[in-house]
Amino acid sequence: MAQTIVLANQKGGVGKTTTTVNLAASLAAMEQRVLVIDCDPQANASSGLGVDVSQVQSSIYQALFSPEEARKGIVDSDMEFLKILPSTPDLVGAEIELGEEKDREFILRGIVKLLSPEYDYILIDCPPSLGLITINALCAARWLLVPLQCEYYALEGIAQLMKTYGLVKERLNPDLDILGILLTMFDKRNKLSFMVEREVRDHFKELVFTTSIPRNVRLSEAPSHGLPAILYDIRSMGTQSYITLAQELIDKKLGQSQEQAT
Ligand code: ADP
Ligand code: MG
Repeated sequence: MAQTIVLANQKGGVGKTTTTVNLAASLAAMEQRVLVIDCDPQANASSGLGVDVSQVQSSIYQALFSPEEARKGIVDSDMEFLKILPSTPDLVGAEIELGEEKDREFILRGIVKLLSPEYDYILIDCPPSLGLITINALCAARWLLVPLQCEYYALEGIAQLMKTYGLVKERLNPDLDILGILLTMFDKRNKLSFMVEREVRDHFKELVFTTSIPRNVRLSEAPSHGLPAILYDIRSMGTQSYITLAQELIDKKLGQSQEQAT
């Protein structure tokens, strides 16, 4: 069964999609079978992995209405071990359209369960909100990864997310645990980055990944070529930091600790 990881933060522009794409690609480079599920109507993870979103016939949107057909929407990427269930802009309507469905928080969980035996990791990229889609993603995953941009109000920004995490864990998905908080867009020329890092590490202690992601122009250029950074510039600091993060994740031996826990 796959380790399922949801990448969530209701703030936009904090590095959710960049982390989804590049962590997925780094894991795939280590021959882990990875599926990215794009749950953001903006479909940046899909296009960033080379999917022509305008041509997509069957996406996560269709899958939410017929989960048993989710497999039909999965497409290949440029990497052998990396596949993607893309998103399309019509997903924006799903929040309302699913509002009447029975068990509407658990639809994605059904899809993930169906696909899980075929992968080692399933990464779910969320939209910048805490609406029904993000709740579905939080209910479908075992692990929550929170990308946190190194900026002034970083901690205040995740208070709401932590509250939602607590509610989801209490009422909907008791299995959900925090995998880690990831400091993104770290700028070592800026003293503020170090201040935010110290504050976040003091507050969240071992929940913060040892690896942090530097601000790196190659990470922001790669999506316009439809490539994860590892295929665009493997030597760049950005690429290397995501490879280190993937290794840190593998070293956590998630499967084992889960078995020990049960
Ligand atoms: P989110 O998915 O949380 O909205 P993105 O991953 O799309 O955030 O990142 C927002 C913007 O910042 C994008 O233009 C992306 O290319 C850029 N970006 C993200 N991480 C980095 C980084 N480490 N260095 C430079 N640019 C980055
Ligand atoms: Mg995004």
